[in-house]
Formats: sequence, structure tokens, C-alpha cells
Amino acid sequence: MELPVAFAGRVVRDLGPEEGAALCAALDGVPPVSVRLHPAKCGDAGALLRRLGACGRVPWCADGHYLAERPQFTFDPAFHAGAYYVQEAASQFVGRLVGDVAGRRVLDLCAAPGGKTTLYASLVGPEGLVVANEIDRRRASVLADNVRKWGTGNVAVTTCEPKALGEFENWFDAVAVDAPCSGEGMFRKDPASRGEWSEGNVRLCAARQDAILREAWRALKPGGRLIYSTCTFNRDEDEGTLERMLAWAGDEVAEAAVPEVGAEWGIVCGQVGAFRTYRFFPHRACGEGFFAAVACKSPDLGGRMRSPKARRTLFGQADKGAVAELGRWVREPAAMRFVTVGDTFYGWPAAQAEAVRTLSEALPVICSGVAMGQLFKGRLKPDPALAFFVGLDRAAVPVAEFGPDETLSYLRRAEVRPDALAEGMNLVCAEGRALGFAKRIGGRVNNLYPNSLRILKQ
Ligand code: SAM
Repeated sequence: MELPVAFAGRVVRDLGPEEGAALCAALDGVPPVSVRLHPAKCGDAGALLRRLGACGRVPWCADGHYLAERPQFTFDPAFHAGAYYVQEAASQFVGRLVGDVAGRRVLDLCAAPGGKTTLYASLVGPEGLVVANEIDRRRASVLADNVRKWGTGNVAVTTCEPKALGEFENWFDAVAVDAPCSGEGMFRKDPASRGEWSEGNVRLCAARQDAILREAWRALKPGGRLIYSTCTFNRDEDEGTLERMLAWAGDEVAEAAVPEVGAEWGIVCGQVGAFRTYRFFPHRACGEGFFAAVACKSPDLGGRMRSPKARRTLFGQADKGAVAELGRWVREPAAMRFVTVGDTFYGWPAAQAEAVRTLSEALPVICSGVAMGQLFKGRLKPDPALAFFVGLDRAAVPVAEFGPDETLSYLRRAEVRPDALAEGMNLVCAEGRALGFAKRIGGRVNNLYPNSLRILKQ
């Protein structure tokens, strides 16, 4: 499909004939493929990158790598273990803008499918919390799957309007708005998006972005950072959105300390009021079209942290016996708080447990911390999410290492042979990376890989 005529015309007007033509030509080229490694799960990174055909680093992200071509990710067990996330390179830049958030609370307001959420989850570490919100329920469940697979145990996934999160006033150390946009930067990677573009949609997106930023600003603490991003090139949704925000937020917006940007990276840096801006054009930088901006909420603003009233009480405290059994399954039980919802136990980072409780009692939270499983006669029947958890203590359960064919059968949720399994519950691994659980009962194996994750492709 051709580029939309009105888009191509505008680009040439805005950038001039030469640069406009270069951008349009790049949008008809081949998109680079990139991944971001999971620092706690990638294992032998060198071997993994060789197998994936890595051909260079993403210069602005320590864990980002380009691949020479697109492998069949579906058939790679490391992909299913969450050892890496397939993420467009330019998007990885937001990790540089968010600053040092170790142990902090980050709100990712437009989060599905979760590329940036997983990046923030690695950055906040085991004592921090990422609240990942997605307004669309179907997309929120994909987000939750990706969060479970990333397995950091420090994310709560909510599905609500941004307004509901805006009511958590002055709550977050950083708020990221990766806004729904007209997607001009995706015209190369996803040619079908060209058919959905229109000037009317650009205006609609801009208005929606204005509304989302108002809620993001309410949720941000004084001194905290706002990261605004889109995957589109037009002024109306990028600099224009920031200008409209500055018109109502005025000097509440202050400059944030920003990272170095290598001149050779090809990023076009700019400024809109206190916002520093970064634009990725595919004919200049190695990635898709992307726009990102950062500023902070003035630390002088003051303002109390406020949260809406609890609507329900969902959580029960795990009793002593349960805590002892659950604690056996994790490497640092003292750093976790165990709670129940119905008959399922969850582990939350102890440092953020009150925050997760407050959120969950006021908002629809569809996944939080790590689902541990259910107790039967004092023994844990582990939830599939526990296999992905980076804090799992492998001494809790026999480990069955599967070869390539058996791994594929397991991931298809097909029959697997009992040979590699001990009697009872086993953690199934491929190349040492955990994929899920399987239970052997004599000569029979219960494949406990989740139905929703199983490989369907032949
Ligand atoms: N941050 C994601 C990532 O890195 O994987 C990509 C997010 S995508 C650019 C924007 C998301 O905003 C979509 O998932 C979309 O469903 C959601 N969205 C759409 N309308 C919204 C609204 N009015 N408020 C908040 N989010 C909205």
C-alpha cells in the first residue's frame, strides 16, 4: 500500500523536499529487528545472541540488540521463557529518560502489549513497582501474559480509564504516557497502518492525548518525571501536545536532568518549554519512527498524596503455615508479603505491598506481583506464573531439563514423555530457562503449560 498522499505532502512541506523524500523512501524499506534481553533471565547472553543472529548493539539501551534478520521467535524456547522481549529499538530509548527509578513507583498509563512496561519493571528492581494500565480489556490480558512471562513480580496490571489513575494524586515517581497515536512511525513495520491514517484521526488522537496527559500529571509526584511518547511524526500529536499541556500546566513543568545522546545515533533533539524532545526518523536513526519527551513536575509544588476510597476488601492475610510453605518456593521470602484472593495466594514485593493493596481495592487489577498458586493439604500447587518468576527457588521442586523436541511438545501443550521427570511436580526447563510445570504420576504426565500461551503454529 502506498503512503497516504496527504501524509507524504505534509512531510515534504515540513521537512523540505530532500529530507521529506528520504523519510518516505525509508518508510518503504525493510525494518530492522531488535530485542531487549532480560538481565535476570538471559543466562549465557553471548550464546543466546549468537543463536538469534545478533549483529550489533542498540546504542541507547544496555540490553538492546539488533538482529541480522527476523528469526521464528515462536519456536524459540528462550522467547517463551521471557529471556528477551522483541522490542523495536527506538522505543527502548524511554529507559534512558526515566532516570534512576530503582525502588520507585512508575505508572505506565498506556501499557499494552507491555514492551515499555517490561523495561520499567527491570529498572525499578525488586523493591519498586510498575503499575501498567491498559484501557482495552483484550489488550490488557495480553499485557498481563507478557508481564507474567517477564517474571519480575513487581508489576500490577490495571484496566481502566486514565481518569481512575489520575485519582491517585501525587502518587508516582514517574509517569509514562506512550500515547495512542496516528502511528505514522509504524508505516514501515506495519504497512496496514497506512490504510487507517487520516488527518481527522490525527486531530482525534491529539485531543485524546491532551486528556490523558491531564490525568498523568495529577498522578505524578512533585519532582517526578513525565515521559511522553508517540510513534508518529506530526507536530500536532508531538510538540503540539506538549505546547497545549504547557498552556495549562505552565511553570509546574520543570526541566529534568537528561542523558547524553551520541551525535552518531541520529536522534533529532529539541526542546519545547521545559520538555526535552527526541525524534527518531527511520532515515536517520536505526529504528522505527518515534517521538519522546521528558520533563519533571516542579519539586516546589507540594501537594499531598491522595488515593480514592477502597471499594472492596479482597485480600486475606496468609497464615503462618501458608507463609512457611510459600516461603519455601522463593529465594527471598522476607522481601515478600503473601496474601490470598479467594483460594489463590499471591506474593508482592514487601516494600510495595501497601501500595498494591490500595490500588487493588480501588481499581480493576487483573494481575499483581506473582501468583503463587493454591494450597492443598498444606502443599503448594504452583501457578504457571511462578515458573517464570525470577525469585523462584529451584530447590523447591525437581527440575526437568527438556531437549528441543520435548520442549516443543511441552509448549504445544501436547503429550510429553515421563523419562526426564521425577514423580510428582516438576519445573520444566529448556537450556536452564524455566517454562512451566508438569506433574508426573507414574507413567503419565500432566502437561500444566497454560492453554492461553500454547504454540498453535505448525
Ligand atoms: N506502551 C506500549 C508498549 O510499549 O508495548 C504500547 C502502547 S500503544 C502505543 C497505546 C495504547 O494506548 C494502546 O494499547 C491503546 O489501547 C491504549 N489506549 C487507547 N485509547 C486510550 C485512552 N483513551 N486512554 C488510555 N489508553 C488508551
